[in-house]
Amino acid sequence: MNLTTDRINTSPIKHYFNTLEFAITDFCNLKCKSCSQGTQFQKDKKHMSVDYLRGISKFIRSHEFNTIKISGGEPTLHPEFGKICEELRELFPAKKYILATNGYLLNQYLHKINVFDLIEFSNYPTKNDEIYRELCKLDIPIIDIKIKEEYSDLTDISLKKNINKHDVFRNCGSPRRIAKVIQDRIYPCCISFGLAAIRGNIDLDDVSVILDENWRQNIPKLDLENYCKECFYNVKIHNKFSQYLNLPIIFHEIRDQFSNSRFFNFTLYAISAIHFYFKNKRRSL
Ligand code: SF4
Ligand code: SF4
Repeated sequence: MNLTTDRINTSPIKHYFNTLEFAITDFCNLKCKSCSQGTQFQKDKKHMSVDYLRGISKFIRSHEFNTIKISGGEPTLHPEFGKICEELRELFPAKKYILATNGYLLNQYLHKINVFDLIEFSNYPTKNDEIYRELCKLDIPIIDIKIKEEYSDLTDISLKKNINKHDVFRNCGSPRRIAKVIQDRIYPCCISFGLAAIRGNIDLDDVSVILDENWRQNIPKLDLENYCKECFYNVKIHNKFSQYLNLPIIFHEIRDQFSNSRFFNFTLYAISAIHFYFKNKRRSL
């Protein structure tokens, strides 16, 4: 069974994973309002050991995922972050490797991170500008995610943003393209662990499966619909037109194919920058 073509459920949309994300640590130096991992609420925090990563690598096929992403928590807090960088490509062969970080201890690992093709840098203006400047000197593209709401507590967890949205799991947007491994489990959406951590009353068996040799068979048996209605993430629901044309999937496919092209990435970032500029301008009016 190949996850790049299989459907996760009977959805009319072909939802499939293109990215496997590893939360290598549950610890973080920050408390962001927008944290999709819900680190502030997570109990029983751990680091993911290198031995565990070696062990589960046999359950993930070579190039089964287009992209491997390392995140946390803050990945540089992992005591074996350097070792993980060294072994990552051999353990999980893929086309592209991404590091999501706020750069906390990244200065110690500047010589190791050339294993990554892209860094998603959470930029907190005035807090981590220095490491951002260091990163810019390296030959690694950076997605600079500016975050203004640092250190604030989550305040809107009681909001049930999707309660009136129909079929939210089946029609949910891009987070569904990312399967996420946290501790010994794999989640069919990069937000669903955060959802369970924040709500506090969701059984992990209902939103994830153990990452063992049976994970591919077990994931389609999950029924996330009711939990998705409780999701704190501001989900975009595909409309009928985009369902029919599968526009988000087509867009992601094009992006995956050309993701190593500097011209393509530059064009994409330029479009994003223009889009955010006009969006913010509209908001400030
Ligand atoms: S830096 Fe990332 S993992 Fe840490 S609290 Fe902020 S969003 Fe969450
Ligand atoms: S609604 Fe939330 S938990 Fe459900 S698939 Fe979308 S992002 Fe994930």
